[in-house]
Amino acid sequence: MEGRVWNFSAGPSTLPLPVLEEVQRDLLNYGGTGMSVLEMSHRSKTYGGIIGDAEATLRRVLDVPSNYSILFMQGGGTGEFAAAYLNLFASRAVREKQRRLGRPLACDYLVTGSWSKLGKQEVERLGGRVNVAADGAASGYAGIPPAAEWTLGAPDETAFVYYCENETIHGVEVPPSAVVDAVDPSVPVICDMSSNMLSRPVDVGRFGAIVAGAQKNMGPAGVTVVIVRKDLLERDEGDADVTRALPSVLDWSYYDRAGSMPHTPPTFSIYVCGLVFRWAEQQGIRELARRRAARARLVYDEIDAHPAFFRGRVDPACRSEMNLVFNLPTPELEATFLAEAAERRMVQLKGHRSLGGIRVSLYNAMPLEGAEAFAAFMRDFYARHGP
Ligand code: PLP
Repeated sequence: MEGRVWNFSAGPSTLPLPVLEEVQRDLLNYGGTGMSVLEMSHRSKTYGGIIGDAEATLRRVLDVPSNYSILFMQGGGTGEFAAAYLNLFASRAVREKQRRLGRPLACDYLVTGSWSKLGKQEVERLGGRVNVAADGAASGYAGIPPAAEWTLGAPDETAFVYYCENETIHGVEVPPSAVVDAVDPSVPVICDMSSNMLSRPVDVGRFGAIVAGAQKNMGPAGVTVVIVRKDLLERDEGDADVTRALPSVLDWSYYDRAGSMPHTPPTFSIYVCGLVFRWAEQQGIRELARRRAARARLVYDEIDAHPAFFRGRVDPACRSEMNLVFNLPTPELEATFLAEAAERRMVQLKGHRSLGGIRVSLYNAMPLEGAEAFAAFMRDFYARHGP
């Protein structure tokens, strides 16, 4: 569309154009109500339909089994670092296991980059017992230690295993079933899918819970999606230390009982997510997975063609198809690269402030043409600035 850029932001990021156009069309008068969704009570019948449809559509797209709840919460991916820990330790299953053991259960963390590290640190801050089962720090988070080297705890001493499937900053993505394959089925696996949710099929039934901030691949900032196995929501309500430790706004069970609306939800963000879910359903989740691989291939082919110039930092076995990170030989060349890209209307390519370099985020809404344009620019840049 006229005037729009190729937006490679890591998040909040570009949205499918048909979704934005629908939002624009309906902004002032949604479905003949004479008002905007922005102005609508979340207790109205119309809004009840909007949030109900959003949930039902996501359930179909990801084939979420009926023994899982889908929750829309606030607090972002960061809120879920604490929520995952606090909710699991409030669950009857974990408390009973802990009673049997007679001492605190451990939380196993696979640390594969900044986001799983922050998730782990939050549990330490709250006084949890953490077992780092794998840590990519030695390689600068350029790869994931092989599963054979993970030091997962004994199942009867472990509350849950946590990992982040796509490290948005380091550009590392865990292969789809690598973790659930390695973990004893009696131990719930909790996964942060903030930056790759809805980009490929997922076998939801193998997870305890999946959490994801919406603002990368699902919609606007302000809403967080939680998909959780219902038995993990069961509590012994009389347990005073459970309620003391778990604020209502992080309590999955509180949201579940009230259809995600125990209090005012981020109404507009959920509405837009619902449109994105419908768009994703029309494309098909397998087609979205095919497209994400095709987009990433175009850029990795350029990196692989000139590895001394486009210095990819991640082991090819686990490089991300969502956030592709690389450096150029000098900071000056990186600055020139970003400036020339901007002249071609390709923006938000600067690497995260902790790593520098270039980060190309290729989420669902990025058309193949956007990745083609970027790959063509890389070729052209190499021809002019390469050795
Ligand atoms: N997890 C991942 C993988 C992320 O990329 C981010 C943010 O970029 C977060 C968690 C934190 O999300 P939020 O900024 O919504 O708290």
